[in-house]
Amino acid sequence: MTFDELFIAEPILRAVREKGYNEPTPIQQQAIPVVALGRDIFGIAQTGTGKTAAFAIPIIQTLWEERQKQRAAADARAQNPEQAARGEDEAGPPKRRDRRGRNHGKPREERVLRALILTPTRELALQIDECFTDYGKYTGLAHASVFGGVKQASQVEKLKRGLDILIATPGRLLDLHGQGYVDFDHITTFVLDEADRMLDMGFIADIRRVISMLPTRRQTLYFSATMPDDIVRLSRNILHDPVRIEVTPAASTVDAVDQSIFFVEKPDKKGLLIDELKRRTDRTVLVFSRTKHGADNISKILRKAGIESAAIHGDKSQGARQRALADFKAGRVKVMVATDIAARGIDIKELGTVINYDLPDVVETYVHRIGRTGRAGAAGEALTFCSQDDHMMVKEIQALVGKPIHMELH
Ligand code: AMP
Repeated sequence: MTFDELFIAEPILRAVREKGYNEPTPIQQQAIPVVALGRDIFGIAQTGTGKTAAFAIPIIQTLWEERQKQRAAADARAQNPEQAARGEDEAGPPKRRDRRGRNHGKPREERVLRALILTPTRELALQIDECFTDYGKYTGLAHASVFGGVKQASQVEKLKRGLDILIATPGRLLDLHGQGYVDFDHITTFVLDEADRMLDMGFIADIRRVISMLPTRRQTLYFSATMPDDIVRLSRNILHDPVRIEVTPAASTVDAVDQSIFFVEKPDKKGLLIDELKRRTDRTVLVFSRTKHGADNISKILRKAGIESAAIHGDKSQGARQRALADFKAGRVKVMVATDIAARGIDIKELGTVINYDLPDVVETYVHRIGRTGRAGAAGEALTFCSQDDHMMVKEIQALVGKPIHMELH
């Protein structure tokens, strides 16, 4: 299937082509037509499947088409002012009015917030914002992201200028709404991204508050990587007759990854990590640590060994996390040490190697971690350090992966 077959408008197609996408991913094939029809979605998909474009492209398309209609109506009004005065040509989204009910400015330049995307972390908010920049660059739509941990002034500036699309983390969104900078009244599409992670991070009350303030007539797109009971319960409350879409990248991704398990005693892990990194100076490596403290420690040990690395986890300041991620993405720093929570959802292209310095708590996380390498057919590699306490988990990994994994004793 091609993007043309999904009836995507020309300016968006052009932008997608420029991104170098040849064909829509499975979730895009399934979701784009359904979202375009205005239906609700319950999507079970994780980052890496192309889910951002699956909701961003049809949102951009709908808003762009509305804007085209609005422009056509404004042009008609300009050509036929008498008819316009009788109010016979109302079209397009509601117009922004001030407290006295007067319209602001010319209709064609008005922007009212139509789409809201709620996401758990600043990194994801920025990443989604970037996707809207990429796919929407020929549509003239205005979008921005707001998130906590930074001063709000520049975010307020963008809101004041007027936006069509807003990407937000829950706390900052509620703050800005409370101060009167965000208007929920005209929202027609609401996206809840990474719902399971939102609940994990304790955002449930904030999410409920946001939803209680949105128009009830709206389209809701709900995405979660996993589907525990509380996620299903929440979905029942907020979705209307949803189309369920499920994509499981795990098997194919994992197949493409060259996996090894190293049996190593705990005190020897550091030395092994340094050796393995020194053998891979030309590759980007993501090292997983179980704890934030552990991530900092690993980073320190590497520095002493002359290997520059960036650590990202929840305790780092917003600026530090963004800098670390930017350095890693640009290849200035080849090694990143992260916890699962901090790394999940971060999209890093051409990641060469994943090293599980610590094993995850649940076996599914292993698949999510190593699924970050070996994308798009590239040769990926995953090394897992396994000490005495981890043997049970290794058996589970072996069973889940379903193919022999190379094992080495150190
Ligand atoms: P996501 O799951 O939205 O985080 O997307 C994961 C990665 O896939 C991003 O780097 C996207 O740029 C990329 N991507 C999304 N859609 C496509 C596509 N149709 N073809 C190739 N790459 C894509």
